[in-house]
Amino acid sequence: MIKTNLTRFTTHRILRYGNVDLCPLDGDIPVLQFLNTRRNRGTGAAKNYLNTYDEFITWCYEIRLIDQNTYNKLCTERYRYVNEAASNVNKVINAREMLYELIYCIMNDEPVHPATLDEFNWINNKANGHLCFAITAYGLQEVWFNIDEEMAFPLWRMIKCAEELFTSGDMKLIKKCQCGSLFLDRTKNKNRRYCNPSTCGSPSRAKAYYQRKRRGTLI
Ligand SMILES: [Zn+2]
Repeated sequence: MIKTNLTRFTTHRILRYGNVDLCPLDGDIPVLQFLNTRRNRGTGAAKNYLNTYDEFITWCYEIRLIDQNTYNKLCTERYRYVNEAASNVNKVINAREMLYELIYCIMNDEPVHPATLDEFNWINNKANGHLCFAITAYGLQEVWFNIDEEMAFPLWRMIKCAEELFTSGDMKLIKKCQCGSLFLDRTKNKNRRYCNPSTCGSPSRAKAYYQRKRRGTLI
């Protein structure tokens, strides 16, 4: 139903406003990328990377959750409706933590609190209120309608991506990297260890290599 173009690792973000501590895009699929926008959950070093509506839609655009046209429209909206933009950020953060709770419980075979499911269903119903089936150039398809100027649209798309994950059978492929990020291990042998081999994997492999080398010279 809803696909993004991101299928491989993304290592670099576009530098904006001189901010060098940009949120990594790792996670393979939008939902896990979304959960990874909060690092070090449950520790004193916890960090949220989505603090403003601008940061959220910029990130959505970079992971291809929204297209350029939608991004441009939402950029205009956020200046026109400052308070609504701020309240949308709170909704985004609450929804992200709700999805984390839901996925964490399913991954660890723990019971899901009914309030968490209620919250998911509530946003999912909101999103469904803007989806319908229509005849398109590609045949009968589910399409969005009345989404212009809807600041919650990127969040609705994310919720539909979550629905897709829950019903895809991919839940069992979710793994946690040493850095705390979640990723989807689609390798044939299920032996992937890092969220991004070119960032997390390389330092670990380099360290292991030098340790082996050091042991080799000591013996
Ligand atoms: Zn990692």
